[in-house]
Amino acid sequence: MRVRRFGALIGAGMALSLALSACGSDTEKTEATTVLQKAQDEKKLTIGIKYDQPALGLKKPDGTFDGFDVDVAKYIAKELGVPEDGITFKETTSANRESFIGGGQVDLVIATYSITEARKQQVTFGGPYYVAHQDTMVNADNNDIKKTADLKGKRLCKAAGSNSFRRITDPPPDGKLDIDGVKLVDAQSYSECVSKLKSGALDAVSTDDLILAGFANQQKGSFKVINDPFTDEKFGVGMKKGDTETCEAVNKAINKMYSDGAAGQYLDKHFAGTGLKLVKEVPTMEGCA
Ligand code: GLU
Repeated sequence: MRVRRFGALIGAGMALSLALSACGSDTEKTEATTVLQKAQDEKKLTIGIKYDQPALGLKKPDGTFDGFDVDVAKYIAKELGVPEDGITFKETTSANRESFIGGGQVDLVIATYSITEARKQQVTFGGPYYVAHQDTMVNADNNDIKKTADLKGKRLCKAAGSNSFRRITDPPPDGKLDIDGVKLVDAQSYSECVSKLKSGALDAVSTDDLILAGFANQQKGSFKVINDPFTDEKFGVGMKKGDTETCEAVNKAINKMYSDGAAGQYLDKHFAGTGLKLVKEVPTMEGCA
C-alpha cells in the first residue's frame, strides 16, 4: 500500500508502471518506494552531508565523520530503522543538494540546508531540526564592518548554490536585506570562502552562525563574528518531493531527539564555548504537506 500511495503522488504514469511491474522485477518498486520503506526493508540509507564544515559536517583525515549534522543524521537514521553501520555518507555541496535528491544519489540531505521557498518547489523538507541565524564573519583585524549594513560596497563571498548571499543582496522571501553595491566573489564552498577571507581576497563571509562558529573555533584568533544576526535559517532534512511518509517519520524522530535530550547534547558537544546561544527546545515543524 505504501508503495502505491507514493506512486500515485509522483504521477499516474509511474503508478501504472508500478502496477504492471508488481508481479515482475523489483526495479520499478525500488524507485517508487519511500525512503522510510527502503530504510526499514534494507536497513540502509545514503545521507548527504557537508565534508568541509567544522562542527557540522566534517570528514576527518581518518575517514570518519564529525559534527552536529552527522549526529542528527545518525539519530534520524536509527529512528527510521537504520543502524550506524547501515549509513553511507555522501558529500553534498550547497550546489548539488537538489540534484542529488532528485536523482536518487542520496536518500536524505542533512547539510546546513535552509528551507527556502525556491527549494520547496523541488524538495520536501522534514524539520527544521534547528533554527540558525545568519551572521557575518570578518578577519580579526577588520574594524570597518561592525553591522550587516556595513557590507555595502564590500567584497562578500558567494558560495555556489547557497542562499546566504541572497539574504544580503535580494529582497524576501529568499533574500532579505536587498543591499545594493555588494561585490560578490565566487567560491565553491564555505571552506573556500573562509580561505579567501583569510588571504585577503574577501572582506566578509556571511552565512549561518553555526557555520561561522565552526570555522572561527577551528582557526582561533583569525576571525571575528560581528554578532548582528538577521535571519532565521530553518535547517531542514531534504528528501524527494512528495515523500510525505518519510517526512512525517523524520519529524517524529526530531521531536524525540529533543525530548530525550540528545539534541541538546549534540549542540553542547559541537558548539559549547563558541559563545552561541544554543536553543535546546524543539523547533516548530514546517509540516510535510
Ligand atoms: N543554510 C544556508 C543555505 O542552505 C547556507 C549554508 C549552505 O549553503 O549550506 O543556503
